[in-house]
Amino acid sequence: MNPFEQHLAAVLDERRALSRYRVRPRIDSPQGPELTVDGVPYLAFCSNDYLGLANHPDVALAMREGIDQFGVGSGASHLVCGHSAEHHALEQELASFCGRERALVFSTGFMANLGAVTALVGRGDHILADKLNHASLIDAGLLSGAKFNRFLHNDIDSLCSRLSKIDSGRTLIAVDGVFSMDGDIAPLRQQVALAREYDAWLMVDDAHGFGCLGPNGRGTLDLLGLEQDDVPVLMGTLGKALGTFGAFIAGSGQLIEALIQLARPYIYTTAMPPAVAAATRRSLQLVAEQPWRRQHLGELIARFRAGAEQLGLTLMPSKTAVQPIVVGADADAQAMSHALRQRGFWVAAIRPPTVAEGSARLRVTLTAAHTNNQVDALLKALAEAQQELRKEPL
Ligand SMILES: *Cc1c(COP(=O)(O)O)cnc(C)c1O
Repeated sequence: MNPFEQHLAAVLDERRALSRYRVRPRIDSPQGPELTVDGVPYLAFCSNDYLGLANHPDVALAMREGIDQFGVGSGASHLVCGHSAEHHALEQELASFCGRERALVFSTGFMANLGAVTALVGRGDHILADKLNHASLIDAGLLSGAKFNRFLHNDIDSLCSRLSKIDSGRTLIAVDGVFSMDGDIAPLRQQVALAREYDAWLMVDDAHGFGCLGPNGRGTLDLLGLEQDDVPVLMGTLGKALGTFGAFIAGSGQLIEALIQLARPYIYTTAMPPAVAAATRRSLQLVAEQPWRRQHLGELIARFRAGAEQLGLTLMPSKTAVQPIVVGADADAQAMSHALRQRGFWVAAIRPPTVAEGSARLRVTLTAAHTNNQVDALLKALAEAQQELRKEPL
């Protein structure tokens, strides 16, 4: 066998042996609580469509109108001839929504993180990253060439001791606002104070907070009353609560101008289709005009937590739409997920290496499109799945 085929076969075999072989469920319906997977209908609790906008008729219409006006493809990168009026307007509206000078739209959140971090720091600089940060922030740190140091999750002392040891270069502190697999929130106020004390910059990846948290849905910073001066670099994604696709960085005019000049994942890629930007503009309007979506989501979160606690399920300290149930062993998480599936519920089992060894979990996510009854039905199914798991001989 060719050495590459040999290598790939070995890697895949190892994955299978560890029960960590990943497969992609095939979705046969639009996103929503009722999801058809491989031809079978389920009640789903695993999407990041937190506000239920991914299949909203107004957003879909805005995309169709965008296609009528701009066609399908953007044709080029932003700096050549792919930057349409829709992208431009979306950036202005995102900046205004976030209370920041400017915003820059990227094709994905992964690319926004790569682009921002590599533009801000390099060899001789430092990145301090929370241990549970998203993979894209980790890869961004490694790619930047800066000295990369991870501090204990949400631990201020651990961050402080690392900061106090740095004696040269610039320091970027990078954290998720809401942690994607735990649902908890970064202690941003304390991190802002530390960043100030040490002349560091704080960057927040608010993929799971943007649209959901705070009185205006501006995200984790809105919830905690923080502004551009406190957190100079804000990243938000458009494929989660906003229900479309893409991401943005928002901050000072100078930051955005520098990213346009320096961020390679911004410069050397095709702009997202203008119609996607048009749909996102409509979606952003709905976020601003329909606070009931956030309120309903908040009520569902409280309802789910109260019910799960009654059932004796191990929840994490999360106030967000991400409500993991820690199961522990990989096989148990899979068995729970399987038992739920048999009852018509689709909930993802998350296992190492996505989460730490021994902390496999069901990642339950709630959205504004779910009803109270659907959450109650999930709780009932969870109770049954848990009982079934306990009965199984080990
Ligand atoms: C989803 C996610 C990203 C990546 O965003 P995409 O637009 O999906 O590429 C980055 N950071 C966090 C924390 C995320 O959850």
